[in-house]
Amino acid sequence: MLESFEATGRPLLVVCTFYKGEIHPSKEFLTHKRWVAVDNVTREGVGEVKKKLLELRHFLQPEPGILDGLVRENDFVLLVVPIDLAAPKGRLILPQVETIRELLDRDCGVMVVKERELKMFYDRLGMKPSLVITDSQVFHKVASDIPPDQPLTSFSILMARKKGDLIPFIQSLPRFRNMQSGSRILILEMCSHHRQPDDIGTVKIPRLFGQMIEPTVTFDWKKQLVHPEELTSYDGVIMCGGCMVSRRQYENTMDLIQSQGKPLLNYGLFFAWVNGLLPRAIEMFPEVYEVYQQLETVSF
Ligand code: SF4
Repeated sequence: MLESFEATGRPLLVVCTFYKGEIHPSKEFLTHKRWVAVDNVTREGVGEVKKKLLELRHFLQPEPGILDGLVRENDFVLLVVPIDLAAPKGRLILPQVETIRELLDRDCGVMVVKERELKMFYDRLGMKPSLVITDSQVFHKVASDIPPDQPLTSFSILMARKKGDLIPFIQSLPRFRNMQSGSRILILEMCSHHRQPDDIGTVKIPRLFGQMIEPTVTFDWKKQLVHPEELTSYDGVIMCGGCMVSRRQYENTMDLIQSQGKPLLNYGLFFAWVNGLLPRAIEMFPEVYEVYQQLETVSF
């Protein structure tokens, strides 16, 4: 475990708890690492743990904002939020709340509508929104209800950009497009949540994949990947937006998948792709758009 942890390049601090003046011989190897001992009864050593944690603070990477580089003060942004069976009762989900809060922090205007009312409100607007952000599942309807030159992306794409890097997903598209008969795909949903009858990860993505790409592909589901060997029998991985995990966790998972030479895709990009909305949904990220333009044809 230590070896695989150190291979990630992350700093390590070993805390030997229940310390009573000596380290058990079976744990002596730990003292070759950066370590500190704590007596759980007297709390001796706790101060030292805090001091050593502070020494590691320069390893912290602040997560970028969900809208970094996309909006400016006084921009007006329209959000499309379906309230379907999957929507939690009485509240919005984290990527939606985070986006609204960040827009307010950036002194932008924000309007939230459901997909059914979108066209009516959009046509009444006196100004063109700087950006429309939608839930991936209604991409198709939203795109058909607004003008083709209206910048449009999804919460899930923004979240994947915040947590990781969109380019490896885009570079993987040709391999998903050419997925062979009988291939196996792993779907990574990085938290537990209540599954609905028409669940995205277990129902919608497999169904769309079968309809649009290859009907004989089979799917498995996991919450996390720990060892590279877990990927041996898979031909590709589709990751959720990762809203409940840190950027470091999301990036480490992407690195692990790439280290095994497997193609990877993200929920938001998958929905944009199969709905014919690539490259439109990534036009606002020039470096990602450029990579897409260099790909062989991956559209349907
Ligand atoms: S972490 Fe993934 S599965 Fe969990 S709510 Fe966020 S996007 Fe969905």
